[in-house]
Amino acid sequence: MSKRPTNYSRPKTLAEALRLLAQPDTVPLGGGTKLLAGDVTGAVVDLQELGLNQIDLADGELRVGATTTLADLAAALPAGGPADLLRKAIHQAGPNTYRHAATVGGTIASRLADSELLAALLVLNASLRMPEDAVWLADYLAIEERPSTLITAVVIPWENGQGRSERTARTPADTPIVSITCWQPENASVRLAATGLGKRPFRLTNAESILAEGGPVEAAAQAAQAASAHPGDFRGDADYRAKMAAVLTKRVCA
Ligand SMILES: Cc1cc2nc3c(=O)[nH]c(=O)nc-3n(C[C@H](O)[C@H](O)[C@H](O)COP(=O)(O)OP(=O)(O)OC[C@H]3O[C@@H](n4cnc5c(N)ncnc54)[C@H](O)[C@@H]3O)c2cc1C
Repeated sequence: MSKRPTNYSRPKTLAEALRLLAQPDTVPLGGGTKLLAGDVTGAVVDLQELGLNQIDLADGELRVGATTTLADLAAALPAGGPADLLRKAIHQAGPNTYRHAATVGGTIASRLADSELLAALLVLNASLRMPEDAVWLADYLAIEERPSTLITAVVIPWENGQGRSERTARTPADTPIVSITCWQPENASVRLAATGLGKRPFRLTNAESILAEGGPVEAAAQAAQAASAHPGDFRGDADYRAKMAAVLTKRVCA
């Protein structure tokens, strides 16, 4: 059963939000789609009034404020670059009602294993902005314990290229069992990321190296299969997931 926050604040400045978040048992509130559905145990600091919902394209980078909803991001994506790849990933993140509430910051901080949006951001080499820090999304997802730092924005290099994602799911609307996302920048080697093969989405670096060195897609697919560390669950057992990693890698590279 869902719980209620012990306290709710809605600061108007980042400084005030950080002061409140430094209190024990206090967490940021984005769209609340996850937090208010059961995660909350203490106080929440609503980020809505901080003005962190700006989207700017400058110097070849798209900077997306953390409280931008997924729906607003999809609607505001500039033409070209990885827009199509991101729009598809946002669409697959969940139904319309969910996309109008869930924020970019909350989605990243949730670090869900099945998030194709995280996989898309990974292949695009996205990085996160925090009040006193900047980290690669890949590093943020690799840390075992979720960092408690506030995310203020995500920065996406806005480069030209070709993107593709493939998934297997029980139904078209269901969470993917396994998905592979591919981004081929115009002037760099192909990047691949997977969901459903581990605790969180991750880059298939061995498969990427094989392709960068001109190796066959079949070898990259075997590397993707070998990267699977998922123990299996009700959606798909470990063996099925690993084998689908190879199948889907071949599809995105075809
Ligand atoms: C019924 C249900 C269905 C769902 N369906 C889907 C689905 O289809 N697809 C999917 O991907 N996810 C789904 N989720 C999971 C969840 O909705 C997503 O992870 C969502 O994107 C979270 O975004 P939010 O803005 O609502 O975050 P919130 O619920 O507000 O917060 C989620 C977590 O992130 C933290 N947080 C929020 N903003 C920040 C920030 N700026 N910096 C640091 N930490 C922050 C919060 O403290 C909390 O721990 C579902 C959850 C539920 C309960």
